[in-house]
Amino acid sequence: MLTPSKKALVPFVSVENMMKLVHANGLDNMLIRIADAIEQDFLRWDAFDKTPRVASHSDVGVIELMPTSDGELYGFKYVNGHPKNTAEGLQTVTAFGLLADVNSGYPVLLSEMTLLTALRTAAMSALAAKHLAPKGATTMAMIGNGAQSEFQCRAFAAICGITHVRLFDTDPAATTKCAANLAGTNLHVTTCTTAEDAVTGAQIITTCTADKQNATVLTDNLVGAGVHINAIGGDCPGKTELHADILHRASIFVEYPPQTRVEGEIQALADDHPVIELHNVFAGKTTGRASDKQITLFDSVGFAIEDFSALRTILTAIKGTDFFINLDMLADPDDPRDLYGMLNRAK
Ligand code: NAD
Repeated sequence: MLTPSKKALVPFVSVENMMKLVHANGLDNMLIRIADAIEQDFLRWDAFDKTPRVASHSDVGVIELMPTSDGELYGFKYVNGHPKNTAEGLQTVTAFGLLADVNSGYPVLLSEMTLLTALRTAAMSALAAKHLAPKGATTMAMIGNGAQSEFQCRAFAAICGITHVRLFDTDPAATTKCAANLAGTNLHVTTCTTAEDAVTGAQIITTCTADKQNATVLTDNLVGAGVHINAIGGDCPGKTELHADILHRASIFVEYPPQTRVEGEIQALADDHPVIELHNVFAGKTTGRASDKQITLFDSVGFAIEDFSALRTILTAIKGTDFFINLDMLADPDDPRDLYGMLNRAK
């Protein structure tokens, strides 16, 4: 059981400290640790409170709260999704999150989660692909070369053994940025000018675009037999990436059906269209990939347990380091019932 500090100070991991923590541990190592934590938590699926995230939509984006608890720790993430933001010099996705001790209700960690979301999304994608992608896959098409893209490529290299990535974005500047960032890694990078070029020879296709509409980033003719699709960008009502024909040819794997049916690619399908829950695949209760010809699709939307797993990885990783500061965010009167007196004496 975690006990809050006597003075009720809450460790806070800033963006600056998150970057230091990742560099101190190595990016590959952090991706692997987060993927392992997600897998462990998905294996104890029934221990968690689960609910679709609470979304507040506007014409230009969405703001969401993502809570869960395993009975010992409670966690939530605040996250936004605003595709128009990059044109204004702002990020599409920003986030922060918190873990609390269920026994006392006291927070035990507050953290930036913009970077951490990129890490956990990449870790989750690669973890799913480890179970679903064709064995021996070496090449991934990376469609959408924005903020998440390099993390996706690095996670697939570290966790799935991908050696080649083929980049495409409707904005060539994004592809140039992604290629430059991946230079010097072990990945062999090819820049492409069309989605068709990007998927050529790829056993894995990742779509990670941002557009507040039902876009068609991938058409049916671009998806050959045996491919694994990691579809990340369709994660809101009215915001999808794949042509519906692809969905009818694919075995569809999801995180938490009540959320994915509203937010994922499968919002285009009937409510009872069969989907497979990934936690059952991880547990060996359901087959993942069953044949060489099968098209597997991870309809990723991002689920609260993944953020919980990422936060608990950070809580462990900061122990014994200087990569956090203690925040005075909980009142701590000497007599717990004398909150007023504490205020009065501070005059
Ligand atoms: P970003 O805005 O930084 O990058 C998106 C990129 O997609 C841009 O470079 C844009 O030019 C490109 N793009 C848009 N339409 C395209 C098209 N038709 N073909 C090719 N490229 C296209 O966004 P980001 O932070 O990288 O996030 C990408 C998407 O992933 C967003 O939709 C976000 O909501 C989603 N996301 C999902 C999860 C999850 O868990 N599933 C987690 C984080 C982000």
